[in-house]
Amino acid sequence: MKRIAIVGGAGRMGQAMALGLGSQGDFTVATLVDVHEPHEKFGADSVRRIDDVDPSLVDAVVDFSIPESVVSSAKWCGAHAIPLVIGTTGLSPDQRAAVEEASRTTRIVMASNFSVGAVLSERFAALAAPYFDRVEIIELHHDMKVDAPSGTSLAAAHAIVDARASAGLDPMVDPTTRHTLEGARGADAGDGVRVHSVRLPGLVAHQEILFGGPGEGLTIRHDSFDRQSFVHGVALALGSLDSSPGFTLGIDSFVK
Ligand code: NAD
Repeated sequence: MKRIAIVGGAGRMGQAMALGLGSQGDFTVATLVDVHEPHEKFGADSVRRIDDVDPSLVDAVVDFSIPESVVSSAKWCGAHAIPLVIGTTGLSPDQRAAVEEASRTTRIVMASNFSVGAVLSERFAALAAPYFDRVEIIELHHDMKVDAPSGTSLAAAHAIVDARASAGLDPMVDPTTRHTLEGARGADAGDGVRVHSVRLPGLVAHQEILFGGPGEGLTIRHDSFDRQSFVHGVALALGSLDSSPGFTLGIDSFVK
C-alpha cells in the first residue's frame, strides 16, 4: 500500500485525486498539502506546506497545485528521494528545469494529461494520419480555461504532423482564400493541422480529431466527463515509478 501526499489537496483536482486514489486498494492518502483548508479530508492529515510533511510517512507525492508550488514539491522530493507525480500545468522553463534537476535524486513523472483515453486517442490519431488527406481538431473545454488551444490538442496535432512527415506526406494546404470572419478556420498547429477551440460552461475536457479522405471520414472523440478521468493515469504513473528512474514526460509509456 503506497502512502500518498497530495499537494494542492484542497483544490478541484487534489480532492478528485484523494477520492479516486483513496478508493483504490493500492493507495492510501496520508496527507493533503494546501495553503487552504480542504473541504473534505478523506481521513488524511492536512498541512499547509510540503516542508511540514514527515517524509517517513509518505511513499510518493502527487502534485496538482500551481507552478510555484511544484518547484517546492520537487525540491522536497529530491531532498528526501521520494517519487513525485506532477499534473500541474503551465510551468515556466526555469520551473521545469528545477523539476528536472530534482529528478537527479528521485523519480519524477510529469504529464499535462493523465487521462488514459486522451493518450490512446493521440496514439490512434498517429496511426490514422498517414491514410487520410486532411485532418482537423476541435477541442472543447469548460469556460474557466485560460489557455487556448489546449496542450492536449497541440500534442495530438504534433503527433499527427510527425506521423504525416514519417509517411512522406506533403503539408496540407488550406484551400480557403476568402476569410469573411478572421479565425474561422482555426489555428494552424503545424503542417496545416487546424485546431478549433470551444469554451462553454458545463463542459469538462473533450476533443474530436476529424480525418477526411476520398469518400470516407474518421472521427476520434474523447470525453473527460469528470475529474475522475485523470485518476487512472496517475495511478499508472504511481505504479510505474519504481521502474522509471529520473524524469519521465507523459504517461504514454505506461499505457501498454
Ligand atoms: P485549483 O485552483 O482548484 O487547485 C489548486 C490548489 O493548489 C488550490 O487548492 C490552492 O490552494 C493550492 N495551492 C496553491 N499554492 C499552493 C502551495 N504553495 N502549496 C500547496 N497548495 C497550494 O486547480 P485545479 O483545477 O485543481 O488544477 C490544478 C492544476 O492541475 C492546474 O495546473 C491544472 O491545469 C492541472 N490539471 C492537470 C491535469 C492533468 O491531467 N495533468 C488535469 C486537470 C488539471
